[in-house]
Amino acid sequence: MEMKKLVSLCKRRGYIYPSSDIYGGINGCWDYGPLGVELKRNVKQLWWKEMVHSRRNVVGMDASILMHPDVWKASGHVDSFFDPMVDCKSCKKRFRADEVEDKKCPACGGELTEPRSFELMFKTFLGAVEGTASTIYLRPETAQGIFVQFGNVLNDSRQKIPFGIAQIGKAFRNEINPRNYTFRSREFEQMELEFFIAPSGNKEWFDYWVNQRMKWYKDIGVKEENLRVREHRPEELAHYAKKCVDVEYNFSFGWQELEGIADRQDFDLSQHTKFSGKNLTCYDEESGQSFTPHVIEASAGVDRILLTLLVDAYEEEPERTVLRFSPKIAPVSVGVFPLLRKPPLAEKATQIEATLRECFRTFYDETGAIGRRYRRQDEIGTPCCVTVDFQTLEDDTVTLRDRDSMEQIRVGAKDIASEVWKFLYSGQRFRR
Ligand code: ATP
Repeated sequence: MEMKKLVSLCKRRGYIYPSSDIYGGINGCWDYGPLGVELKRNVKQLWWKEMVHSRRNVVGMDASILMHPDVWKASGHVDSFFDPMVDCKSCKKRFRADEVEDKKCPACGGELTEPRSFELMFKTFLGAVEGTASTIYLRPETAQGIFVQFGNVLNDSRQKIPFGIAQIGKAFRNEINPRNYTFRSREFEQMELEFFIAPSGNKEWFDYWVNQRMKWYKDIGVKEENLRVREHRPEELAHYAKKCVDVEYNFSFGWQELEGIADRQDFDLSQHTKFSGKNLTCYDEESGQSFTPHVIEASAGVDRILLTLLVDAYEEEPERTVLRFSPKIAPVSVGVFPLLRKPPLAEKATQIEATLRECFRTFYDETGAIGRRYRRQDEIGTPCCVTVDFQTLEDDTVTLRDRDSMEQIRVGAKDIASEVWKFLYSGQRFRR
């Protein structure tokens, strides 16, 4: 699939727009339109349901984006959150040094400068005075907000090790070279779980979370053959990690990371204890000793998952383009149409749409040829459509159309909500 076709669909149909579009956009920043925001909400809601609501031993939180500057000294970001970069002396493009082969510019083959550090954190100032003393950062990850509140959550939530804290929120990185559409952005959203364990349980919990996370990707409909788990080589490991795997997706631009799962050991809590002077240990009743918990982290990018879902669902057929989203994540669940914009048909369709709207995301459309209306829903990934036609006025049945097979069956209008529910969630699509 050519990425530019998906980019065009996303803009045309209201999934993704360049940020500040009328001013020509801003590099590495994207806006989600009416459908994009629904898809994003579905992704975040399914993650939260899976990671927090379905577990007794995980709680959520929501930290501020601006944090005390010492947080980033303790975490190691101030000292080490740099990407070495090179500039092309001819075309002036900039690249990450580790992404360049043969010391030649990947764009024009020109000569490159020596690698230089590029600070990835965005700086800003707290209060009216600008200067070193008031410099703070836009958080480059959500994880530190969890680590610094570990003590409060432990005291207040009646949780005991092993337990987790989950968070969804914005993160910012001044990426040298934002590219591949939304894949590498400068402003993006993360969904992170920090799971705190006793020091001996690392391998068991690490394997557990890798399995759980892979299962989730399959549950939300990502094709299994396009997913893999790749373990980091020792030289790739971040300074805090003992072991790390990436969940990767097979994009047209190669296998790329969607989520990192890392054994961070006790690095973060020990560092924050050192820098803040606050005790972040747990007491083990059996041994009578205190210990600093270890952490298994599962850190996923919302925007990358969204892009994955779009790429994975996109199919071109001779007569139509279709997004084959799982009904669980589709931004619109059901389209409702009168065959013609005539009062008895339109009135009945309006009634049906109002009934369906109580349980599903609906889209009402009464203009244009019916075939065109179906194609439009196929292109935005709506799993089914309900059409009111002249037969409806005789026997109170409507057609229910399946996006994937394009087959239609007649179902009773009075049971429409349960018929649509069965179609979407029971897995028995159109078995007559
Ligand atoms: P990469 O190597 O691709 O830069 P990373 O290893 O630095 O990613 P992490 O720090 O592990 O990424 O962040 C966790 C997750 O946050 C990533 O798996 C990804 O989904 C998301 N993420 C990180 N950077 C970006 C970005 N610039 N744009 C969009 N999502 C991002």
